[in-house]
This record gives sequence, C-alpha cells and structure tokens, in this order.
Amino acid sequence: MPIDQSTMRSEPNTGPNARGRFGEFGGRYVPETLMHPVEELEQAYQLARTDPNFKAELDRLLKDFAGRPTPLFPAQRLTERLGGAQIYLKREDLLHTGAHKINNCLGQGLLAQRMGKTRLVAETGAGQHGVATASVAALLGLECVVYMGEEDMGRQAPNVFRMRLLGAQVVCVSSGTKTLKDAINEGMRDWVTNVHDTHYLMGSVLGPHPYPMMVRDFQRIIGQEARQQILASVGRLPDLLCACVGGGSNSIGLFYDFIPDTSVKMVGVEAGGRGPDLGEHAARFAGGKPGVLHGSYTYVLQTEDGLIASTHSVSAGLDYPAVGPEHAALFRRRRVEYTHVSDREALEAARLLSQVEGIIPALEPAHALAEVVKRAPGMPRDQMILVNLSGRGDKDLGIFQSAGIL
Ligand SMILES: *Cc1c(COP(=O)(O)O)cnc(C)c1O
Repeated sequence: MPIDQSTMRSEPNTGPNARGRFGEFGGRYVPETLMHPVEELEQAYQLARTDPNFKAELDRLLKDFAGRPTPLFPAQRLTERLGGAQIYLKREDLLHTGAHKINNCLGQGLLAQRMGKTRLVAETGAGQHGVATASVAALLGLECVVYMGEEDMGRQAPNVFRMRLLGAQVVCVSSGTKTLKDAINEGMRDWVTNVHDTHYLMGSVLGPHPYPMMVRDFQRIIGQEARQQILASVGRLPDLLCACVGGGSNSIGLFYDFIPDTSVKMVGVEAGGRGPDLGEHAARFAGGKPGVLHGSYTYVLQTEDGLIASTHSVSAGLDYPAVGPEHAALFRRRRVEYTHVSDREALEAARLLSQVEGIIPALEPAHALAEVVKRAPGMPRDQMILVNLSGRGDKDLGIFQSAGIL
C-alpha cells in the first residue's frame, strides 16, 4: 500500500547522529575485529536506503511474501467489555511466520544479498526470529545458521524443527546461561570469523550502530500503515499507542512516525515477570541502569558490580536484559512512558482477547493488552487506543496449557 503523502507530517528526528548516538545512548562498543564489518554494513545500508530499486524490491516482498499491509482491526467487543476508550489492533500477527519479525528479516536479507553475502547468521531466543530468518534465507537462496541457547532449544523444540525444515542449521549454544544473550555472543563470533561471505541478521533494535537505526527503519512500516489506516477510517490520530518492549523493534516500529504528533501518548510495556526482585523480571526501565551490552550503551539489568543480571518472563521474546538505545533516549526525554505488567496479567489478557475477539495473541503483545485492560476503563469513550498485536499465540499454546488459565 503506497503511503498517502497528504497524511504524512514532519519526519521524526530522533537520530541517531553520525556516531550512532540517540542522545547519549547507542554507539558502537565493539572489539577492533568487528569495527570493519559494522562500518561496511553501515555504508551498504546508507546506499540501499536511498535506492529506489531496493525499496521497490522490499515493498514487493513485504506485500507478496509477508502479506502486507496488515489490517487495523476495531476490537469492538473488547472495547465494550472494558467500557472506556475504543481499542484498535494492528494485526502484525497475520504476517507470514506469525509476527512482525519478517519485516526486518526481509530488509536485512535483501541488503545482505546486495552486499554479495551468501550466508546469514542470526541469534534466536524463542525461535521466532530464527524461523523468520530461515524463511527469508530460503526465499533468497542464502545459507542460514541460527545460534540458539541449549535451554531455549529444549523449550522451543517445534521452532527448532521448523528452522531445520526450512534448511537452516541450528547451532546449540551451551555457554553462559545457555539462552539468548549467549546465542548473540556466538553469532557475533561467527560473523567476525566469516565476514567475507556472511551477514549477521540482528533480530531487534539492539547491537552496535547501524543495527538499531536499520532495524527501526525496516519496522517503521507498522506505524506508517497504522497512521494512514486510522486517518482513513476515523479521520483523526489515536490518543494512545501501546506496544510491548523486548529489544524494542515492534514498539519503535509503531511509535516512530507518531513521534512528532504531540497529541499522541505512547506507552511501552516491559515484562514484569514474577515480581520486582532482580532476576525475576525484564523491566529494564524499572530495575536497570545505563551500561553496555552487545555493543550498545543503554538501560541494562545488572548487579551492583555491573554483572549482567539474569531475567525472567513467561514470554521468551521479552526475556532479555537490555533494551534498544533509542528507547533509552525516548525514556530520558519522556516522550514515551515505560511500564511493566506481570506474567499473570499477560496470561489473563491473552485469555480475554481470545474469548471476546477470537484472536489468540502471542504472550509478548499480551503484555501490551494487559496494560490496555488497566487503562481503557478510565479513559473517555471518544478516545482511541491503538495496540500493536505483534504476533500470534500458536507458539505459546504449551505455556497457556501449563499456566492453568482455563
Ligand atoms: C520477538 C517478539 C517480540 C519482542 O521483540 P521486539 O524487538 O521488542 O519487538 C514481541 N512480539 C513478538 C510476537 C515477538 O516475536
């Protein structure tokens, strides 16, 4: 769907600057060996982003392969049930492979191909980013290696099988906590060693510059479409945007084009897990402080001594100790409010949406829905909340079952 220029306003101008900084956050904290690969990537991306051929090819694949544009759905029964603001769902759950991650994978996959790379390397936690990367690799005829923690491979066996069926090699990471953080370390190590033919396909707005900017640009389509859709159907902008924040890609994708619209409030929802103690949640803005993880200066959950803390969330996609640096800057500027909801509240919200709208959400966006459940009743009926439904719940059926929510 072409974006109608008449509904566009000023370009958001939140950076990053030439050194990859969003305010004081972001940057490029990498060893010497990674400096050349990230510089090469930045140059290639700067050329691609202004090349009409690149944009046309990406638009074509987003439409024909991924299924864009996604609908904006007025959730009328949920609205009635909560008795306040009108709720609209941006249906990223309807995309190929089940979540917004495919938007970014198509963008980076095409870029890798342009750079003459024949091999994609990616990290994955729950396996959603791995499946999206493996699908794009198959589509473009590229080799694919996905690093995954041993712990995660055990709990996400169906996605491991999907990746293998798609032709990817899944490498088991047994170091550290055997989860996503360690998988990223291994993936980066592979990239340094094989940079001549390999692209590292980062799954969220994390890592050294240019990744946070580039992944945001590939996810902006969510907010661009949503803005146009709500203006076309209602004739005005929403009052509140709501999205879950893991690394922060689906949320920044929704928020970005609304940043200049001062009437639009935004709330990012982190994983409150089992409670406020360190190790029991992934609420970086509530319990973290600035530090460096995976090449970027941002809010990080850490111990008194600066060791990276362990995290917990019922939702694997939100279970990571750092957050994208652009969110850290938006938090500091107070342009976006960040909050968190518990495992329990997210599970309950997922059950509610399933039963009143016939849509089973993934546990990640169920966190955003849980925040809407809290806020909508207190808002006037003529106000609008637009929620990003970032993915579908098929992958979480086992968790719903064992959580005993029925
Ligand atoms: C991975 C994932 C997330 C979390 O990642 P972000 O980069 O914060 O968007 C959220 N929702 C779904 C469905 C996911 O698969």
